[in-house]
Amino acid sequence: MPPERPGYPLRLTIDAAALADNWRALDRLSGSASAAAAVKADGYGLGARRAVQLLWAAGCRTFYVAHWAEAAELLDLVPAESIAVLHGPMTVQDVIFAKATGVRPVINSLAQTSLWHKAGGGLCDLMVDTGINRLGLAMADLADPTIAALSIDTLHSHLASADDASRLNEVQRERWQAACRQVPHRRSALANSAGIALGEGYHGQLTRPGLALYGGVPCAALAPHIRQVVFPEAQLIQRRVLQAGDTVGYNATFTAPAPLEVGVVTLGYADGYLRCWSNLGTMRAGGAELAVLGRVSMDMTVIDLSAAPDLVEGDWVTLDYSLPDAAAKSGLSQYELLTSLGRRFQR
Ligand SMILES: *Cc1c(COP(=O)(O)O)cnc(C)c1O
Repeated sequence: MPPERPGYPLRLTIDAAALADNWRALDRLSGSASAAAAVKADGYGLGARRAVQLLWAAGCRTFYVAHWAEAAELLDLVPAESIAVLHGPMTVQDVIFAKATGVRPVINSLAQTSLWHKAGGGLCDLMVDTGINRLGLAMADLADPTIAALSIDTLHSHLASADDASRLNEVQRERWQAACRQVPHRRSALANSAGIALGEGYHGQLTRPGLALYGGVPCAALAPHIRQVVFPEAQLIQRRVLQAGDTVGYNATFTAPAPLEVGVVTLGYADGYLRCWSNLGTMRAGGAELAVLGRVSMDMTVIDLSAAPDLVEGDWVTLDYSLPDAAAKSGLSQYELLTSLGRRFQR
């Protein structure tokens, strides 16, 4: 018998009920529109397969990924028709895959339109650029006859500043409504998580939340409705005692003012716990708060164990990782905090 394959001493605990509740809250806040789910980037780092299974069980019926390869990883879990690929088709292989499986492309340009028509067309989504100037058909191209020949399920646009009280929101909404009047479609969609909070005029028939599903709070209005989903945990691999004047970690950025009990945790910047948390982050064991001491290294972080005298090697500690708080503290965005969590976390 081969020995059992070792697991990593890092885990990402997912609160499945919170994920489902967040989707239900966003669906409710979407009014007469239905909430879909953005599950690109491996479900914002949670694990797309698990997220899709939980969201489907909660009632979600439309999922957005960025890449065709991401769609392929979900095909055994949900009907292909419930998956759409935001980046659209770039190659003949992409359109062949779409036609063969039934995964919907989101068409973003006249070039993609032509690629789709050449493959025989069929139901697709259309993304219209109304001011983010990133991906999407230019408003001026809407009148192109090849657009009129598309069979469009969802007509999308995407807000640049939904999490701000920006005037651009209203400008984009008006352009999106003009596009909706011009191009026949079954459903329309504009709002990401923060866009949902902008109100009914932004909802169309479908909303596309991502961040808030996973516990991110992009604007104050969503705060009462969203619960933390992701709890990163790591194992304590050593306890040690520092003497007054001892320093911790690379470049000795922490000096013990007095004798101090500290611990080494198996987590570092290679796991997405970036160096900005040096002398800043906190972790928990039971109720005790354990401050990060010195620099975060690649695979290890040292914490103050003064408040946890009973913690022993092999015990687990939980990172303080409430997304809005962690973002305010670290300067990282809530999106980065989720998607940078590394592959060594067992999900
Ligand atoms: C990622 C993405 C979303 C989700 O945005 P959040 O801010 O995470 O809610 C919605 N729409 C498009 C087009 C996206 O690329």
